[in-house]
Amino acid sequence: MPLPRAALLALTLAPTLALSAASPALADRLKVVTTFTVLADMAQNVAGDAADVVSITKPGAEIHGYEPTPRDIVRAAKSDLILYNGLGLELWFDQFIANLGIIPSETLSTGIDPIPVALGAYEGKPNPHAWMGLSNAQVYVDNIAAALSAHDPDNAATYAANATAYKQQLTDTIEPLRARVAKIPAAQRWLVTCEGAFSYLARDFAMQELYLWPMNADQVGTPQQVRAVIDGVRAHDIPVVFCESTVNTSPAEQVARETGARFGGVLYVDSLSGPEGPVPSYLDLLRATAQTIADGLDAKATN
Ligand SMILES: [Zn+2]
Repeated sequence: MPLPRAALLALTLAPTLALSAASPALADRLKVVTTFTVLADMAQNVAGDAADVVSITKPGAEIHGYEPTPRDIVRAAKSDLILYNGLGLELWFDQFIANLGIIPSETLSTGIDPIPVALGAYEGKPNPHAWMGLSNAQVYVDNIAAALSAHDPDNAATYAANATAYKQQLTDTIEPLRARVAKIPAAQRWLVTCEGAFSYLARDFAMQELYLWPMNADQVGTPQQVRAVIDGVRAHDIPVVFCESTVNTSPAEQVARETGARFGGVLYVDSLSGPEGPVPSYLDLLRATAQTIADGLDAKATN
């Protein structure tokens, strides 16, 4: 007999650190839906075997202005709990949740110290990409554990233990990379990207930021935006520019061409890849992004 779909999903998403002590029957498990893949992976790591987690948006999707399908609504309406980022990230969320009836939802960015968007239509509003901050990641994990425990108190001890182990894993992954970036001279520590999605990472890595557009939900890749970044790259003699996996990289490549900077490759922020891709987990996303940044800046030092 074939495995039910939920079991297959649980197998593909099985986290590395799941505690197996509490493993309720599939039908009894808490069913959790998240708005995007990054949150789904974080939540599955905290849930372990005790709950099932799926993401509404698919790997590689543009998440700010997503348009939920009727199928998304049906699936979410059958869940026990919806986890979302908040801070204005999911422009579609209020309408989506209103269509669902009475499914409880919890925002995962509660308690972080927001960085305001510096320019554009979202100027002064909190930058929503808080999961890219290293200390923020710990807050997200705690918020996930609290949300799961509130809606499934029987497994609270499992969620707490998984959260503790996962937070340690996050620290162990990122600290060596932060130490590597810290060795790069401060004047060279520039992070040039497409979306201004790295303000939290830049703060934690003590980097200065320059980006083509503030938010993917805003205008992207206008001639004025490209011109401003070209001027910035020249003014600060920045050796490398990057762009993200979910957007068109050609404006960033144009900046590289016109300034002589290198195009340092693709960073990951708003979405994981599929299971066969380069960043199937949030840990992979942080590791790959930080490594690409460090490699791009180190290349200058060795050239
Ligand atoms: Zn974004």
